[in-house]
Amino acid sequence: LSNYNYYIGWCTKYTLLQALLLTLFILVIILIIKSVYNKIFKQYYFDNMTSFLRRDHYEQKIQKFSNMDVIICDIDHFKSINDTYGHDVGDIVIEQVAKKIRNCIRKKDIAIRWGGEEFVIIFSGLNGEAIKNKAEQIRKAVCHEPINQIYVTLSCGCANQHDGEKIIDTLERADKALYLSKSSGRNQVTYHSEIKIE
Ligand code: GH3
Ligand code: MG
Ligand code: MG
Repeated sequence: LSNYNYYIGWCTKYTLLQALLLTLFILVIILIIKSVYNKIFKQYYFDNMTSFLRRDHYEQKIQKFSNMDVIICDIDHFKSINDTYGHDVGDIVIEQVAKKIRNCIRKKDIAIRWGGEEFVIIFSGLNGEAIKNKAEQIRKAVCHEPINQIYVTLSCGCANQHDGEKIIDTLERADKALYLSKSSGRNQVTYHSEIKIE
């Protein structure tokens, strides 16, 4: 009888071990599938260099947005940074500028790499001149200290989306403001307060 008891005890332990190993195996498989999925998802939606959203996948989504506040910013004289220090250093500058922008915004704010060295950030609840102050904060964060010993500056244009206005039109106004920042000497913020684009 004692032999019989011993046999049952050993068998339970063995079954438990088997169940544990099976659970571990399934967990590992789930983790592998999750990480592969995340990697594919990340590459599809996010820009590799900046970790910002990719414009080609996100531009369509923002069309439905209402009551948002936008900033468009563009690194000043970036072509000359590339020409002087090389394309690889240019890449580092883009990466670091994006990092500085990221540090100025909340997790829920939407940062998109709009072009090579141009970024769009979409906020909610930064009505009126609050969006201008946010753009100022970003601009200052970028020029505050050199990146790779290079003094980098950023020009910004910003605007609030008005009732009934398509976000594409808000972006156009912010872009117009960015153009003004550029033509007025760069390293500055311009706020577009008008509703209509002349
Ligand atoms: P502005 O102050 O008027 O904005 O002048 P700019 O020189 O920054 O503007 P321009 O549009 O003439 O130059 C942008 C350059 O950015 C041209 C392009 O070769 C470069 N560029 C675009 N994407 C990348 C990238 O991913 N890496 C690097 N290193 N350069 C890039
Ligand atoms: Mg530029
Ligand atoms: Mg540009």
